[in-house]
Amino acid sequence: MSGTQQAKCDTLILGGGVAALWTANVLKAAGQSVLVLTNAPLGSGQTLAAQGVIHGGLKYAVGGKLTDSSEALAGMPGRWLAAMRGEGPVDLSSAKLLSDHQLMWSLPNVVSQVVSFFGSKALRGRSAAIPREDYPAVFDTPDYKGRLFRIDEPVVDPVSMLRELARGVADETYLVEWGESAQLETSDGQIESIALTGEDGQTVEVRAGTYLLAAGAGNGELLATLGITEPAMQRRPLHQVIVRKAGLPDFYSVCVGTGPKPPLVSTTHVDSAGRTVWYLGGDLAEQEGVARSEAEQIAFTQTLLAKLMPWIDLTGAEWFTWRGDRAEPLTGTGDRPPGAYCRRIGNLLVAWPTKLALTPDLAEQVLRETARQSGASGQCLTLPHPPLGKPPWDLP
Ligand SMILES: Cc1cc2nc3c(=O)[nH]c(=O)nc-3n(C[C@H](O)[C@H](O)[C@H](O)COP(=O)(O)OP(=O)(O)OC[C@H]3O[C@@H](n4cnc5c(N)ncnc54)[C@H](O)[C@@H]3O)c2cc1C
Repeated sequence: MSGTQQAKCDTLILGGGVAALWTANVLKAAGQSVLVLTNAPLGSGQTLAAQGVIHGGLKYAVGGKLTDSSEALAGMPGRWLAAMRGEGPVDLSSAKLLSDHQLMWSLPNVVSQVVSFFGSKALRGRSAAIPREDYPAVFDTPDYKGRLFRIDEPVVDPVSMLRELARGVADETYLVEWGESAQLETSDGQIESIALTGEDGQTVEVRAGTYLLAAGAGNGELLATLGITEPAMQRRPLHQVIVRKAGLPDFYSVCVGTGPKPPLVSTTHVDSAGRTVWYLGGDLAEQEGVARSEAEQIAFTQTLLAKLMPWIDLTGAEWFTWRGDRAEPLTGTGDRPPGAYCRRIGNLLVAWPTKLALTPDLAEQVLRETARQSGASGQCLTLPHPPLGKPPWDLP
């Protein structure tokens, strides 16, 4: 049987990562009808590859003074922790908090810099020196000659976080293949409607008050389809390293070196077979790391870890890497914009959180932009719901 069914909603969201799903939960809780259309398993862009660090801005303040970026992030740990207690429009009470803090540690040659940084007024109350007798297992060795600080920036598990966000809007989220089964009808750079044809030949035409582009790197292509050149998008590639070995200790940390960026940021995860992985990013995953082949990147990281933490036995560990792009509005400087980005163009909102941590801020901006809508009742579409994607350590 074939035919066309008309559907309406307040806000139609294109995307399937943290930005789309968190925002959909917030709008739904505010009484809007929402639909989310994604083109791949949920989270399969950046979100499931994120380290899950809910930055409060300290990493960006390592140079000694708080920047716009660190100020935009300052409230985020509190907002996420509230969601993880089940308070607020997004319920993450069943998501896993991997760690309620990160360790900040230093290379031996920068100890004095770090000590004075942590003594600075800007950081009072947000960090504390850890006495040697309380060092966690990963640094519990006389061979570590640096200092260790605790910073109150939590680490969330991207997998369970995404699962809970998806659960909140499961009935409203659909998988589409733009190639053949979906068409955007546009006029003057605005979306008029989206026509989706299901496997059964049924076409559903969706019209919305607002269309939100929250598709990460996919926003670039969607903007090109709409003929919109401003905002433009930038991609900043990363080449992350994964070390898998049974019995690895917890290692949630930011390492401070002599440069403006931490040489190493580490998080710890468990794969679907119950094995522990260290997920390593920071400066090692940026430009020079991107230029390295997988084998070179692994060799570089092995040498770095052997130098920084020779007491950790990584014999027999499995090593692999993950490549992907961060997607953001173009800044012209090659840097990340300081805060979450949301721009209105007619009935379109173009959005990038620019950091997982900043998603609550993005969702609030979208809610403000769409607050006066209400009325269109949400409708079930005859399309499949998407599965959840996999994090880098569970990819084949
Ligand atoms: C390796 C890495 C580590 C990171 N670590 C951290 C961290 O520790 N802390 C932090 O705050 N931030 C971190 N980030 C940044 C953070 O992951 C991103 O800012 C955030 O996940 C972006 O979410 P998003 O939903 O906008 O995009 P994505 O997660 O990329 O999701 C975009 C989604 O849109 C879908 N899509 C694409 N095109 C279309 C289309 N045409 N139609 C419909 N759907 C479409 C895709 O399938 C995808 O699911 C990290 C990023 C990377 C790459």
